[in-house]
Amino acid sequence: MNMSDNNLMEKIVSLAKRRGFIFPGSEIYGGLKGTWDYGPLGAELKFNIKQEWWKAMVKNRDDVVGMSASIIMNPKVWEASGHVAGFNDPLIECKTCHQRFRADQEDIIAEHEKLHKEKKEKTDWTEEKKFNLLVEVKLGAVEGEKNTAYLRGEITQGVHVNFKNILNSSRLKIPFGIAQIGKAFRNEITPGNFTYRSIEFEQMELQYYVKPDEKKSMEYYEFWKNFRMDWYKLLGINSDNLRFREHQKNELAHYAKAAWDIEYKTPFGWKECEGIHHRGDWDLSQHQKFSGQDMSYFDEETKEKYLPWVIETSGGVDRAALFFLIDAYYEEKDPAKNGASRIVLKLNSKLAPYKAAVFPLLANKPELVKRAREIYDDLRKDFMVAWDDRGNIGKRYYSQDEIGTLFCITIDFQTLEDNTVTVRDRDTMKQERIEIKDLSQYLVKKL
Ligand code: ATP
Repeated sequence: MNMSDNNLMEKIVSLAKRRGFIFPGSEIYGGLKGTWDYGPLGAELKFNIKQEWWKAMVKNRDDVVGMSASIIMNPKVWEASGHVAGFNDPLIECKTCHQRFRADQEDIIAEHEKLHKEKKEKTDWTEEKKFNLLVEVKLGAVEGEKNTAYLRGEITQGVHVNFKNILNSSRLKIPFGIAQIGKAFRNEITPGNFTYRSIEFEQMELQYYVKPDEKKSMEYYEFWKNFRMDWYKLLGINSDNLRFREHQKNELAHYAKAAWDIEYKTPFGWKECEGIHHRGDWDLSQHQKFSGQDMSYFDEETKEKYLPWVIETSGGVDRAALFFLIDAYYEEKDPAKNGASRIVLKLNSKLAPYKAAVFPLLANKPELVKRAREIYDDLRKDFMVAWDDRGNIGKRYYSQDEIGTLFCITIDFQTLEDNTVTVRDRDTMKQERIEIKDLSQYLVKKL
C-alpha cells in the first residue's frame, strides 16, 4: 500500500467493483445505504478469512469449541444484555437539510459544515438525542398481533445464552472458549468509508470463560490480545499499519474491566478492526437474573460454584477483508515491460481467491486447450484455480495480478513435447519451467 496515495480508497472501491470483489447492495434499485454485496472474488476472500480464523481459534485448539446461534432471539435477551436500554449512539440532525449524523463523529460533521459553508449557508444542529442501534423485526402471522423482535446487534449473546447447553453437552472445563462467526445488524446513523461501517456485517468472536480471579484473568486477557494481533500479522498485514489502542475511561462499557482495540492504519485514519474486552461476569449474571436460570459453573476439583468471567475477542469479517485488500494493494513498475505499471494485490497465499491460473498459450489451438484443460481439472481437485484464454499472455498476467492470483501456469507448444509448463510467480514475476507431474507438489510447497 502507498500511504501517500490520496485516491487509494477510490482505487480500491473501483477495483473491488470492476473485478467482482464487492458491489453496492441492490445496486439496480439505486442501492441501499450501508449494504454491500460480495461478488465471486469477494465471497472467496471472506470465506478464506473465516476459514483461517476458525483454524486458529477452534480447529487448532483443545480449549475452544464452535457454535452457530440464531440471528433472531427472544427479545428478553436484549433487555438482559442492556442493548434495549443502552445500545445508543448520540444523534444530531442538521436543521438546514435534515440529514442525521452521529454526534461523536467529528470529522464527518466538520465535512458537512464545510459543504454548507461553501454554499454560504449556516449549519444549525438539533439537540443531541439517543438513537438505538438495534434493528427491529416484526414477527407473527396475524396482522395486529405482531411481536417486535430484533436482528442481533452483536453475535456475542447467542453464545452466552447457550453457555449451559454447551457445558452440559461437552466435557469442557474452565478455562475454555466458545467461538462463533455470523451476521450482526446495526441501525448505523452514518454508514460509510466503503464497507467499514455497514448496517449488516459479519463478526468473528471468541468468548473465553475463566475463573473469577483478577490476576489470572488478566493473564488470559494479555494472551488473547497478543494472539489476535499476531493473527493479522501472520496473514500478511504490515506491522507498521497495526497498533493497539486502549479505551479511555469514558469509552469503557460500565461492566468492562479492560478494553483494547486492534487498529489498522487506513487511508481515512487509524480505525478499529477488532476489540478485546474483559467483560467480567456481566453477561452470565444478567442472563441469570433475567431468565431465572442458574448460569453458574461447578468446579469438580475444588468443589467451587461460580459465575465465570469472560474475555472476548470481537472482530469484523468485512473490516478484515477491507483492511487485507488495502494492505495488499500495490502499483508497481514492471522492468520486463519497459517500466509499464501493474496493479498487484499481494494477498497472503491463504487469503488469495485463486491460488493459480491456467492458460493455454493460444486459445485457437485445440491441442493446447485440451492439454491445459486436463491440467486445470487436475489442479482444481486441490486448489482454487482460475482459467483464462483471452487476449495475450501479458494481459492475462496483469489481470491475475490485480486479483492476487499467486501463480500463472502457461501451456505452450513445448508442453506438448516435454510435459513442462511455465510457472510465473505473482510477486517476483519470475518464470520457471516445471514438469507437469511436479506441479501439484510445487504449489503445495510454495503455498
Ligand atoms: P465502532 O466503534 O466502530 O462503532 P464498536 O466498538 O461498536 O465499533 P464492537 O461492538 O466492539 O464495535 O464490534 C466488534 C467488531 O465488529 C468491530 O471491531 C468491527 O470489526 C465489527 N463492526 C462493528 N460495527 C460494524 C459495522 N457497522 N460495520 C462493519 N463492521 C462492524
